[in-house]
Amino acid sequence: MVHETGYYDLLGVSPNASAEEIKKAYRKLALKYHPDKNPSEGEKFKLISQAYEVLSDPKRRDLYDQGGEQAIKEGGMGGSSPMDIFNMFFGGGGRMQRERKGKNAFHQLSVTLEEMYNGTTRKLGLQKNVICETCDGYGGKKGTLEKCSNCKGRGVQVKVQQIGPGMIQQIQSMCSDCHGEGEKFNSKDRCKNCNGHKVERKKKILEVHVDKGMKDGQKITFHGEGDQEPGLEPGDVIIVLDQKDHPVFKRQDDNLMMMMNIKLVEALCGFKKTIQTLDNRTLVITSQPGEVIKHGDLKCVQNEGMPIYRDPYERGQLFVQFQVEFPEKHWLPEHLMYQLERLLPPREDVMITDDMEEMELVEVDVQTQQKAHKGEAYEEDYDAPRAGVQCQTQ
Ligand SMILES: [Zn+2]
Ligand SMILES: [Zn+2]
Repeated sequence: MVHETGYYDLLGVSPNASAEEIKKAYRKLALKYHPDKNPSEGEKFKLISQAYEVLSDPKRRDLYDQGGEQAIKEGGMGGSSPMDIFNMFFGGGGRMQRERKGKNAFHQLSVTLEEMYNGTTRKLGLQKNVICETCDGYGGKKGTLEKCSNCKGRGVQVKVQQIGPGMIQQIQSMCSDCHGEGEKFNSKDRCKNCNGHKVERKKKILEVHVDKGMKDGQKITFHGEGDQEPGLEPGDVIIVLDQKDHPVFKRQDDNLMMMMNIKLVEALCGFKKTIQTLDNRTLVITSQPGEVIKHGDLKCVQNEGMPIYRDPYERGQLFVQFQVEFPEKHWLPEHLMYQLERLLPPREDVMITDDMEEMELVEVDVQTQQKAHKGEAYEEDYDAPRAGVQCQTQ
């Protein structure tokens, strides 16, 4: 039984979420709250990462479910930095790479199932740093760079602070005049376009080709389109696809899944039904009279699932699960029941003997029942009568 739900709440999933749902929730939130995008939400980014680190590992998730955050802390495992967790998840380069190459930038792109089925091109406008054209990334007039007088070219400042009677502390910090560079331009020689920052912010439009059959979470990489910085090879821009839910179809890899309601008469006597496909064709499916479709039956339409990525003439399957709608109470006058019964498969009669007890079947009010269950799970804050199932008195 789950005692604490804090980690699940952080990711916005229920305690019985699948590993896939947890992954998807983390992916969405991590991209949203990444410090590059949301510098003021660093704390939130950290919490999301912690929650994911625990819940993505089956052993630690078990431990959490049984003993909550306390158990995780006592277990003393994990504790990777939020950035490491992020990089591991998205595959952004390791430290070695980061030194010679700029950071990769991740963006989420929301796409519909129709777009993944038919393929599409989306334009995405991004802000990025590019080397300043006016000064070629130098920051000012060539040859006018001077040693910083504030830090004497060391890039660091040393401050002496009294922290108690007779106690002083030396604090080293980055030089605020030259931002740790040790060199700076005179204000008259500094590049007016980039104000000495060597880069400027520019808008760049990326054309993202969403190919037929691409999947939720799939990455599309634009090599070298990340922020530019003098002396560094720019990182990549990586677009992560996020598939929106579809009102009719659920996707399972290359297969599609849908529910279809049929009436009792259709279940027993056959039907013709239409299905609107994601590329706007209309399929007609038929059940022959006498075939009998039961509630919950699963059937398949071959080659009407999602196109296969990079092999779009092949498609997965379309699964249809049937829900049989029964008629309402008293739909048939009682005197006609006999005729209906004659047509249906015969029933098995029960011999009633004196030692049996005859009981009455009473309707169940589903809402009251759910409340009563909730009351059991959260006794402390919800004072419901401790009844399991409540019968509705008629
Ligand atoms: Zn410039
Ligand atoms: Zn300085």
